Amino acid sequence: MPFHVMIIPTLGCPSNCSYCWSSAEGSPIMSIEIIKETVEWLKKFRNDPVTFTFHGGEPLLAGPDFYREALPLLSEGLRHMKLAFAIQTNLWKLTPELAQILAEYDIPIGSSLDGPQELNDLQRGTGYYEKTMHGYEIAREHGLNVRFICTFTSYSVRFKEDIFRFFLENGLTLKLHPALPSLRDKNPKKWALDPEEYGGLLIYLLDKYLENLHEIEIMNINDLCRCLFSGRGTICTFVDCMGDTFAVGPDGSIYPCYRFVGMPEYVMGNVYSHPSRENLADSDAWKVMHQFKEYVNQQCGGCTHIRYCRGGCPYNAIVHNNGELKGVDPYCAAYKKIFDEIVERFNRELFGSSYIEIAASPSEHMKYAKPGIMSLMQKLASN
Ligand code: SF4
Ligand code: SF4
Repeated sequence: MPFHVMIIPTLGCPSNCSYCWSSAEGSPIMSIEIIKETVEWLKKFRNDPVTFTFHGGEPLLAGPDFYREALPLLSEGLRHMKLAFAIQTNLWKLTPELAQILAEYDIPIGSSLDGPQELNDLQRGTGYYEKTMHGYEIAREHGLNVRFICTFTSYSVRFKEDIFRFFLENGLTLKLHPALPSLRDKNPKKWALDPEEYGGLLIYLLDKYLENLHEIEIMNINDLCRCLFSGRGTICTFVDCMGDTFAVGPDGSIYPCYRFVGMPEYVMGNVYSHPSRENLADSDAWKVMHQFKEYVNQQCGGCTHIRYCRGGCPYNAIVHNNGELKGVDPYCAAYKKIFDEIVERFNRELFGSSYIEIAASPSEHMKYAKPGIMSLMQKLASN
């Protein structure tokens, strides 16, 4: 059973994106001792394959010396486990030296761009685009694989056509995130993407993807189809992540996920005390995450998508209800909408429209007479 450990070397970040909820000014940088203790903790914790993702804040603020020591400590100290690495960074601090270190471990990079320069910089700050693209060039020169996450906000969703065209014309894989309400903001919902709008956006992107199936990858649509057709979640949002995902904060505190880092009430333990699974299970954070699982079984019991949706992201559900279990992931409406749409299109393609249906509604038939879900499934299978 693979598991995931996110390492958060700092919550600091040189950027100041308008809708950010996960960085903190003055956050310390993780010491290499924490990595050594993480290795000692995990040696006894479990022996399954593990992916380490360096996340932030901005993880490259930790600098080359940190990675030059941390990567061999983890890979050699835990060589009995199957290890993989990844990093999520805005690339501003990527130097040839750092790129060389990441390349030695073949580390895939996730970065962020919200679309064309003007739109991106309006949301993420003047100069963001150029700094990220500069880092992107360095990454490419070192053979690193970079994918960009595009955050759609209540503002940028109005420019979805421009954003899609930007990713298509630049040959970039598109992965999107809806902007979450920022807990740091006086007006937390200002940039947040409304669930209905998010659902509509996913359907728009499904259409655009099918029109351009061999020219672009849209990760979210791929993942949604994989979830549906395998009958189980294939990304963290759609599985019971609790107990298989952990985050280690800059001071060694252990949290259920990077999204909780810096929130003391969600600390489950610390790497210095090498906690067992049972020790972590005694924490309030572990308990509330597992209560969410039970809550989903009740609340989503009547939903046809429960097996591969699992109520969505517990962070979205819990934190935005001030720590109480009062609802599932607020993006439920979006998930339902896109899952229903894919199922409906697939059934139409599989079983075809009857003569009567076509005669009664020729325009409806035409709507589906284009590359469809089957073509996408073939593409995913051949990959
Ligand atoms: S809390 Fe949300 S973001 Fe974090 S691992 Fe779970 S599903 Fe993923
Ligand atoms: S779509 Fe909504 S109701 Fe259905 S399982 Fe997901 S969160 Fe629950």
